[in-house]
Amino acid sequence: MKENNVQEQLKEAGIDILKCMQCGMCTGSCPSGRHTSLNVRRLIRHAMRSQDVLEDKELWMCTTCYNCQERCPRRIDIVDVILRIRSIAAHEGIILPEHKQVIELLLEYGHAVPIDEMNMNKREELGLERLPETVYKDPEALNEVKKLLNACKLAKIIDQ
Ligand code: SF4
Ligand code: SF4
Repeated sequence: MKENNVQEQLKEAGIDILKCMQCGMCTGSCPSGRHTSLNVRRLIRHAMRSQDVLEDKELWMCTTCYNCQERCPRRIDIVDVILRIRSIAAHEGIILPEHKQVIELLLEYGHAVPIDEMNMNKREELGLERLPETVYKDPEALNEVKKLLNACKLAKIIDQ
């Protein structure tokens, strides 16, 4: 089987998914799979076979609880596999619209969930200051957060 780019990158990180024997122990241990379409055994097989795994929506359904990794009889670092494939996908601009929205908010406000008028009013009712002690109150700190995010090339990910 010819190695695809995903496999090559995993190998460079010292992870060999070709050791997977498709036993299904990971799927049977996966709490997320009980509530979503995530089938981690199938996801690993997809990664073994095709670069298309980068487009697999199930990639984003893992909560990184590590249940599967603890039980894998072949000692495959399953969560690292998922996180690395996510990272490759993100750097190719393959992310969900919800992730894109969070990145946009972070880049603008330094918060994934910016405070709105309703919450500011609630804070006031509780006797708190309208704005919390975060980057909202410190434009210089917000600039530093933005510098860090730019150093991580986050904007580039959503511009693709
Ligand atoms: S538990 Fe390990 S060997 Fe079994 S299917 Fe999952 S990844 Fe493959
Ligand atoms: S780490 Fe992810 S794939 Fe593994 S059991 Fe937990 S939710 Fe499922």
